[in-house]
Amino acid sequence: MKQQKKEPLKKQFNFPVWYILIAAFVLMSLSSYLFNPVVGNISYSEFKELVRDGRIESCQVTSSLIKGTLKAEDYRSEKMKTFVTARVDDPELVKELEAQGVKYSGNYENTWLQQFLFAWIIPIGIFFLIWRFVFKRMGGPTGSIMSFGKSKGKIYAQEDLKFSFDDVAGIDEAKEELQEVVEFLKTPHKFTNLGGRIPKGVLLVGAPGTGKTLLAKAVAGEAEVPFFSISGSEFVEMFVGVGASRVRDMFGQAAQKAPCIIFIDELDAIGKTRGSNPVGGHDEREQTLNQLLVEMDGFDTNTGVIIMSATNRPETLDPALLRPGRFDRQVVVDRPDLNGREAILVIHSKGVKLDENVVLKSIAAMTPGFVGADLANIINEAALLAARRNKDNVGMSEIEEAIERVMAGLEKKKRLINKKEKGIVAHHECGHALVASTLKTADKVKKISIIPRGVAALGYTLQLPTEDRYMMTREELTDRISVLLGGRIAEEIIFDEVSTGAQNDLEKASDIARRMVKYYGMSDKLGIVTFEPENKSPFMGWGMGSNKDYSEETARDIDIEVKKIIDDVYAKTREMLEKQKPMLIKLSKILMEKEVIEEKELKKILNDEIEEKTDATRVN
Ligand code: ADP
Ligand code: MG
Ligand code: ZN
Repeated sequence: MKQQKKEPLKKQFNFPVWYILIAAFVLMSLSSYLFNPVVGNISYSEFKELVRDGRIESCQVTSSLIKGTLKAEDYRSEKMKTFVTARVDDPELVKELEAQGVKYSGNYENTWLQQFLFAWIIPIGIFFLIWRFVFKRMGGPTGSIMSFGKSKGKIYAQEDLKFSFDDVAGIDEAKEELQEVVEFLKTPHKFTNLGGRIPKGVLLVGAPGTGKTLLAKAVAGEAEVPFFSISGSEFVEMFVGVGASRVRDMFGQAAQKAPCIIFIDELDAIGKTRGSNPVGGHDEREQTLNQLLVEMDGFDTNTGVIIMSATNRPETLDPALLRPGRFDRQVVVDRPDLNGREAILVIHSKGVKLDENVVLKSIAAMTPGFVGADLANIINEAALLAARRNKDNVGMSEIEEAIERVMAGLEKKKRLINKKEKGIVAHHECGHALVASTLKTADKVKKISIIPRGVAALGYTLQLPTEDRYMMTREELTDRISVLLGGRIAEEIIFDEVSTGAQNDLEKASDIARRMVKYYGMSDKLGIVTFEPENKSPFMGWGMGSNKDYSEETARDIDIEVKKIIDDVYAKTREMLEKQKPMLIKLSKILMEKEVIEEKELKKILNDEIEEKTDATRVN
């Protein structure tokens, strides 16, 4: 690709306030110099004396001043030739001037320039200054007034964007998926020739610091295309309509530079569900979001513009953004596992002098749950510590201290788990997995992981399209509840106590059971009746309570029925898991070691076990 320098964007016509102010100042001083060649400032009484003494040649009377010239014989130097004095209300003056034969004239003062300056230019200048200041404080657009509403998308030249996939480690699955995007950008014809449609939007989803931004840049670097980058929060501005016009502008600019990537970081800042605020809402954000949707629909991907976006809160995104033709590809950027962490450490310790006693593998083992940014931080902190201690290289002691520091910061965020918790979580997750692998209708287990991460639930939420819920059979629903309860039951079986970790599962399980009773008519006692329409108006759901169209008694019956469903499923699931207790323990042990078990491996572990037994037990 050609060198796309930052120039085109930076050189937008700038119209700084300073130019106006300087011009005004120069004009003002010039005008006073040109119009008032003031030389001698004298008092009015002195002036009257001069008049009486007959020493004045001529004078000009204006509304506020009297300027005059002395008679030739009276002034000794050029300096003394002219004078000026403030005018005093003096009805006698004209008579005296006439008596002395002084030439005098009134003067229409030509002050429009000053007036114009004072009345218009300066106030406007001050206004602009304040405006600018306010914007700066708000982190809005900086400075240029004329580029107001233009996108602040930074365009990176190819050379500036030195990142490649080699700089990203530990998130191989995401990398693999994005490899395809690189292909699209590099050789679009290969795909379009066969009539395929290149995806428009790719949404990177993952916890903060997992390398989403880095990954997007690496894609641009790999594909060697320009990279427009803007953060969602930069879109949200003070005035309605500005965000929207920025979106329009950015897509316009990108179209000219195709093939290229538009990267919207922190999409959740503009992409929050519309109408989620019952009081007034946020028009500006909604307009920006609408414009984004319009632009995404409007352009043809075969031109080679691919929109990438990143968020760590996908659950808050407006569903419209995730529809086909928009961000239809979602790439989960996971926290790295043991090997991944080691690979990331290798990358970040490249430029750092490490002592021989430093073993990156053992650092990786010490840092479960750490993301790429944390690991980069550890290496950096350790290097700083070593420098402070005047050491030649970074030793294990610095690294350990750095880990402690970073961990202290992280523990506040409750991301890390200690050993005992790790055991509980492992058994809990294996409980889910075992139940899911045993039940016929349950979704296949793709992966079990005890790497803590905030967005694990995401995949689940996104894989549950609204329409499908009406198509599920009773068995599928109870199986789903069973899988959800599996985690808690496993904890009970192994530890004889339960943790709070299962709360979310229980909420979901009760929710499904409640739906079965209330909406799908799946309860024996209440029969085939639907209580309450499922689609509440967005305004009714929030705090105002929904309109119940059934009695308190029915409500109690619903609760009883819900409990009955849960209890039934619970008993069955518990029985099922008790039988598989050895497997549960075995699986959990492997999981605690590896942190992640993939689908294939899980199958292998389960099958090994089954082969050892007879076929008769397999029926379970
Ligand atoms: P996110 O956008 O997901 O919050 P970033 O991409 O901004 O995270 O990551 C911040 C920094 O952490 C990166 O610049 C990089 O130095 C480091 N980093 C994060 N993830 C990785 C990774 N997978 N491999 C290498 N470095 C990483
Ligand atoms: Mg980021
Ligand atoms: Zn669970």
